Amino acid sequence: MRGGWMGPSRSLGGLPRTYGLQRHFSRDPGEGPKVRITRARVGRVLQYFRPYLWQWIGLLVLLVLGAFANQVNPRLTRHIIDDAIGEGDRSLLFWLAGGMVAVAAAMGLLGVIQETLAAKTGQSMIHDVRSQLYRHLQRMSLHFYTASRSGEIVSRINNDVNAVQGVAAGTVTQIASNFFMVVITSINLLNISPSLTLLAVAIVPLFYLPAKLIGGVRRRLATETQEAQAGLVTFMHERLHVAGALLTKIFGQARPDADSFSGLSRDLVDLNVKGTVVGRWLRMVLSTFAVLGPALLYAYGGLLVIEGELSLGIIIEVAALMTLLYRPLQQLATFYVDVQASLGVFERIFEYLDMEPEVRDRESAVELPETEGHIEFQGVSFAYPPPVRLAGDPADAAQADEEPDDDEEPRAPFALTDVSLEIEPGQQVALVGPSGAGKTTITYLVPRFYDPDEGRILLDGHDLRDIPQDDLRRHIGMVTQETFLFHASVLENLMYANPEAAEPEIVAATRAANIHEFIAGLPDGYDTVVGERGFRLSGGEKQRLSIARALLKDPEILVLDEATSSLDSTSEYLIQEALEKLLEGRTSLIIAHRLSTILKADKILVVNEGRLVERGPHDELLELDGLYAQLFTQQFGKVLETT
Ligand code: ADP
Repeated sequence: MRGGWMGPSRSLGGLPRTYGLQRHFSRDPGEGPKVRITRARVGRVLQYFRPYLWQWIGLLVLLVLGAFANQVNPRLTRHIIDDAIGEGDRSLLFWLAGGMVAVAAAMGLLGVIQETLAAKTGQSMIHDVRSQLYRHLQRMSLHFYTASRSGEIVSRINNDVNAVQGVAAGTVTQIASNFFMVVITSINLLNISPSLTLLAVAIVPLFYLPAKLIGGVRRRLATETQEAQAGLVTFMHERLHVAGALLTKIFGQARPDADSFSGLSRDLVDLNVKGTVVGRWLRMVLSTFAVLGPALLYAYGGLLVIEGELSLGIIIEVAALMTLLYRPLQQLATFYVDVQASLGVFERIFEYLDMEPEVRDRESAVELPETEGHIEFQGVSFAYPPPVRLAGDPADAAQADEEPDDDEEPRAPFALTDVSLEIEPGQQVALVGPSGAGKTTITYLVPRFYDPDEGRILLDGHDLRDIPQDDLRRHIGMVTQETFLFHASVLENLMYANPEAAEPEIVAATRAANIHEFIAGLPDGYDTVVGERGFRLSGGEKQRLSIARALLKDPEILVLDEATSSLDSTSEYLIQEALEKLLEGRTSLIIAHRLSTILKADKILVVNEGRLVERGPHDELLELDGLYAQLFTQQFGKVLETT
């Protein structure tokens, strides 16, 4: 959908066959979501344009200049025919021909300036939107990320943000340029000959009707083709996948499946052929009708020339001007749809921006510079919020025209019910319980990844909700089972925990975490790039790195999810030793899987189905002969027997 006012000048040499209509009517169906045009929506979109007001004004001025410039060469052609050739004035002929080249060059220059300005402004707007979105999404609670498929957020945002540039530099300039072109060309045409102008405009509907009809068929075919294509891909995905292939083999369905596949493929062939044929018909009809305008013009205008009422040059000028009129007119016919689609692009962005983070800082939140690390849960119940629906989900498409409904989706059953617990400063508390009991959930509530639905959590007697999130999290370190490392150097990964850390501090931390020697031995030492696309560290090495990271942060409170996967005994020993140093003197909440950790804990909390069912030191719990005793014998019975 590009082109603007620089295109039609080439039509002076001969009329383009379809005045660009072919392209116009063959646009893919369903470009972007469509939304109702409302004042509020437009107003909100305009906010993004406001900082670039002067650039936009400059662009509009350039577009008007461009529309005027386009009128010049047809006029020069007229003078060449009537005055230079007609009167046999050689010098005028060369001057005018040279003038045409000069005008084209000037228009080209204007075009370069206009595109540059449009690109700069459009890109600046993208930058604004992208930064705003990133900032906003970072504030979203963890839930936003767990509840939406990985990669989806990134690709959606990328596509949506890029679409903004299309709107800014494409749709807006295009509509404006078409508008100016139509207005200025019409005035010019009316000045030259009102009757020829009427003739030129009267045939516009003749283009429109057949094109619309065939366009409709094309769109339907395109949709069917897309569906058939998707069906084929799904079929292949399922069958050519380990589990699907297994089913096919077990049930001996290879041959029928191959037949079904052939059937689907054949359908696709038919649809594609039909699509091509219909497209060709459209071109045929359009090119026939495209000749109609000039033909009528030459027939009627020709008569006037023969009768001496008009000059030949005028007919040629009008023919050229008609081409300047038709394409913008046709493009403006979809003005409404274009604006809808553009608003739709912004609407998707707004949907992200309007997502309220579930965990918010209270206005009255007060910083907590230091903490003793006294943690208390008072009757805490919590249910995970319903899944996040990203903008443009198929389920949403049907409602695109409706205002967002405020109906709360039902929340999941409580993951935690009435949990009360207390951790004294410096205590080590072990969480134990079957998988899915709610241990991780308890640890997630401490740094406020989520807020409880009922009850409250206190740190040194302050409700967590009264402490700004950033401030709260400064006091909490977390070592999880899965260690995530950014695609960056070891040093950068470490300093993420404490950007101010100096070298001696860093080395002290890595030494304590038993990882310094290893890092020093890497190809580039601390500058070795690790992470997803970098140097691959083993599970044990990553864990020790993450312990070093936590040591560098030096938090008062530590949340630790012990690894369940078994490591070789050397790694195990190195990690154990590192962990001991990390836990020293810190209030810690540990999802414990190791016997030694459980035995060393000051207090053991037994979680089952979201409730705290038993609590106390190891010996007491064993005596109780409840869930703990049962879990303990299951997991460690054998170990104890052999020791
Ligand atoms: P544990 O750590 O004891 O294995 P979790 O705290 O991870 O258990 O999970 C407790 C319950 O909450 C489980 O039923 C689990 O399915 C559910 N759950 C965990 N994470 C989410 C989530 N992001 N969304 C919805 N439910 C969740």
